[in-house]
Amino acid sequence: MKLRLATPGPTEVPQRLLLAGAQEIIHHRSGEMEELIRGIAAELPPLFGTTRPVHTIASSGTGAMEAAVANCFSAGDEVLVVSNGYFGERFQAICRGYGLTVHVVESDWGTSADPARVAEAYAAHPDIRGVFAVYSETSTGALNDIEAIARIFRDTDVVVVVDAISGLLVHPLEMDAWGLDVVLAASHKGFMLPPGLAFIALSDKAWTAVERASGPAYYWSFQRLRQFHPMPSSSPAVSLLLALHESLKMLGEEGLPAFRRRHATLGLAAERALSALGFRTFIQQPHRRSHVITSALAPDGIDTSQLLKNLSTRYGVTMTGGQAHLKGKLIRVGHVGAADALDLSGVFAAVEMSLLDLGHDVTPGSGTGEIIRTFHQEAR
Ligand SMILES: *Cc1c(COP(=O)(O)O)cnc(C)c1O
Repeated sequence: MKLRLATPGPTEVPQRLLLAGAQEIIHHRSGEMEELIRGIAAELPPLFGTTRPVHTIASSGTGAMEAAVANCFSAGDEVLVVSNGYFGERFQAICRGYGLTVHVVESDWGTSADPARVAEAYAAHPDIRGVFAVYSETSTGALNDIEAIARIFRDTDVVVVVDAISGLLVHPLEMDAWGLDVVLAASHKGFMLPPGLAFIALSDKAWTAVERASGPAYYWSFQRLRQFHPMPSSSPAVSLLLALHESLKMLGEEGLPAFRRRHATLGLAAERALSALGFRTFIQQPHRRSHVITSALAPDGIDTSQLLKNLSTRYGVTMTGGQAHLKGKLIRVGHVGAADALDLSGVFAAVEMSLLDLGHDVTPGSGTGEIIRTFHQEAR
């Protein structure tokens, strides 16, 4: 059975990138490696909207989240976490683990954070040293207005930490223009690569915080990253760097505007297909929808846990559902990275077949028809 990932990370890796990563290992102190790494280091900053260096480390996205907390803050520091989903909760957990005093601006899952409430929380807690926010909250599909949130802290010493792990590339992100201080990303979302690389960019304000905090980190130390940049201070993930080099080439060939248009169309097509199948879009206006995934609540009588299980066992399609109170109710169709109209059509064909397998009343083609229609319209 052919396996397909309709998940928001890891994502399907194009064969071209798999092959790039299958090359012989080159030594990290060789001239060849230095050329590879310098090339990567030159190409990453524009993707983050920054002139600052972007550091590449061997880590999952969560490792970069923890590194940001460990390097920029000290136990006892007050911080604010903007939380409207699972990854906002993860930031809270990491901050608490490091002994920070955590204030939370909590909003319902399925909504975007309200910047006005962030401003109120800052007024109530003027001594905070940092604010944490997630750009594309992958657990729900909501997009947060990072630009507006960062504006609140523009002329302050508060360090704005952004988890752009799934949002980068798919949605515009202008680190310098928006005044973001720490921007985190990872290889297995928009970059179309296997998991294993994380990216970290820091502003001058962030570096001041790092110097003040001077925590005990060694492998995770941002100061060491700066000291050796762009070269690694220990063995890098060579295969992934070879693949990243090729991924940057692919992104350059498509161009970011086209990459973003493709994701917007995938999101629109998935939303229409889900509606046609009787699902209700989870992120409702005026909340903003991420183009990384499309999430929807199942109609009464459809248990999404059963549907997801059938999708994977009978059709080899991996898709995710909801966590916690959304388990069994939510479906999240991932379409970040290399996904195209035919991938999404295949995924929705499997959804329709699964619904039929489970005895639901579905008109074959009602979902996939929307995919075809949407891409046909958008191509004109
Ligand atoms: C995927 C993801 C993460 C975590 O990445 P891991 O590599 O699984 O640790 C964090 N935040 C967001 C928004 C993500 O989409």
